[in-house]
Amino acid sequence: MFVSERKHLTGMSRGELAEFLNEFGEPRYRADQVFRGLHQRRLQSFQEMTDLPKALREQLCESATPSVLTVESKYVSEDGTRRFLMNTADGNPVETVFIPTENRDTICFSSQSGCALKCDFCLTAKLGLLRNLTTGEIVEQIITVLNDVYGPGGETPHGTNLVAMGAGEPFMNFDNLIKALEIMSDDDGLFIVPNRVTVSTVGIVPKIIEFSKLQRRPNLAISLSAPTDELRDRLMPINKRWKIDDLMAAAKTFERTLKPGERFTFEYVLLGGVNDSIEQARKLAAVLRKHGLHRVKINLIPHNPAEQLDYHPPEIDTVEAFKRTLESLGVSAYVRTPRGRDIFAACGQLAAKHEANPVKLTTSETAELTL
Ligand code: SF4
Repeated sequence: MFVSERKHLTGMSRGELAEFLNEFGEPRYRADQVFRGLHQRRLQSFQEMTDLPKALREQLCESATPSVLTVESKYVSEDGTRRFLMNTADGNPVETVFIPTENRDTICFSSQSGCALKCDFCLTAKLGLLRNLTTGEIVEQIITVLNDVYGPGGETPHGTNLVAMGAGEPFMNFDNLIKALEIMSDDDGLFIVPNRVTVSTVGIVPKIIEFSKLQRRPNLAISLSAPTDELRDRLMPINKRWKIDDLMAAAKTFERTLKPGERFTFEYVLLGGVNDSIEQARKLAAVLRKHGLHRVKINLIPHNPAEQLDYHPPEIDTVEAFKRTLESLGVSAYVRTPRGRDIFAACGQLAAKHEANPVKLTTSETAELTL
């Protein structure tokens, strides 16, 4: 049976696993064992689940799979960032980035293969949308990265933070994304709780509202990158569908759901000579003021150069001046240090050329990561 025809158990909730195993006449506790095997022990083969009867392991190997992604290549940056290029069983690219810092690990994962949204400063846009990733493909990215960094099932010494900022617009794949985050939050599994997760959207307004209503919702980041409709229409065509005023009204709805002490984020990619002037910083602060948005911070992301894009990074002094202007108007602003630029893992660079510093995997490593 082809991999794609077998059930991918990594994307199943505990309830679905119980139903699936019930078909083999297995009791409920078997579902809990398989769930722990997949998510807590991060096993990539049913044969390793030695707490299951041998006959069941063989049945599972026949009819199901724990893994559908293949690691095609891995790139390691001088700063420790690791970029993974994977393929789905039907040959679509998936990119995932591991970003270590002193006290925590962050995994930036993809929600779609390619993207439909055509942001002008983003390389993934050049691919167009190939397809939505399944729930299992989203979860498996995280398992694959943790197994690569800490060994199969190895202890993770730091907490793991997740950011849905890889390829794709997460809110265009809302249901699969939310189900994946629920599976990953299970304390008998990966145990990555919602407040360790940030979902980044370009501003799919109805989905921001729906997200606001979730009981256990992750953090939100909204990619803005322009203070006026005229400029944003050009940089991020989604703005033609929902104007800045619509987006800010949805952001206000979200802000009302914040708990005491919480804030949410606007991301602003700084493009040299395009959206980085003092005047534009003032307009940005004015937009926030107009909509009464106070519990926000702005992450300033200097553009990462890529040959295929017409933009260039802003001058360091310009970035500082932009930040100071926002702060002088009462808006918290932070400059994000680019990570993994040398391996094209930085924001907006995914889908850039693949040949930089590849770490070729041996056949056994590839097999380990694949199944
Ligand atoms: S920035 Fe995000 S939403 Fe825009 S094209 Fe790139 S991947 Fe898609």
